[in-house]
Amino acid sequence: MNRGKIYVICAPSGTGKSTLVNALCKVDSQVQLSISHTTRPIRPGEVDGVNYFFVPVDAFETMIGDNEFLEYAKVYDNYYGTNINTIKNFLATGKDILLEIDWQGAEQVKKLFPDAILIFILPPSLEILSERLHKRNTDSLEVIKKRLDLALEEISHAPNFDYLVINDNFDEALLDLRSIIRAPRNKTTRMLTTIKQTFNF
Ligand code: ADP
Ligand code: 5GP
Repeated sequence: MNRGKIYVICAPSGTGKSTLVNALCKVDSQVQLSISHTTRPIRPGEVDGVNYFFVPVDAFETMIGDNEFLEYAKVYDNYYGTNINTIKNFLATGKDILLEIDWQGAEQVKKLFPDAILIFILPPSLEILSERLHKRNTDSLEVIKKRLDLALEEISHAPNFDYLVINDNFDEALLDLRSIIRAPRNKTTRMLTTIKQTFNF
């Protein structure tokens, strides 16, 4: 059966992961972004149900108790998690699913789905990461400091990922990401049913 693949994308906050993923989804209609639940405050410009499902802590904890998450983690003092039904529904459609989650969640997904492809996006340097976080202008200085302090720790998990992409030149990083996601679609195992039907063998 032509089932979709799970791709997990991780990066320290400010690397450009959301910008890259949004650009990817615009040019690749076969890929569907999973919308996570979170307890963090909504940022200006974000929309509930589009960027995240924003929920209170007690609602998130009830969902944990009801086993509604495929994976979840506490990141920067807030809960984030992937709803299990979202994934089940998408997998059946044959579309690829993109999970934009942290390394803890990535490791949980790989245990449950060993075929999932884990991609880690890195900034060119910590200085450039700091510049991007300040320029984005969405977090307080205190939050930015916390995110930068955590970045090195997060980057130390990069060796556990299948692919590493450096987001220096945006267009090149996007091309790298697209190549990683497109190549498995041409695997013989994934193409064979269609080819057999077309050429009748
Ligand atoms: P993340 O989702 O990883 O936290 P964002 O996608 O919000 O990061 O990007 C952080 C900031 O960096 C944004 O202002 C974005 O426009 C900018 N940015 C992303 N990629 C690049 C790049 N290759 N070069 C310069 N700035 C970038
Ligand atoms: P932000 O608050 O900047 O949107 O995201 C903060 C961090 O939480 C990022 O590293 C992001 O990838 C991670 N994150 C977002 N959604 C999920 C999720 O569903 N599960 C996990 N484990 N991490 C998530």
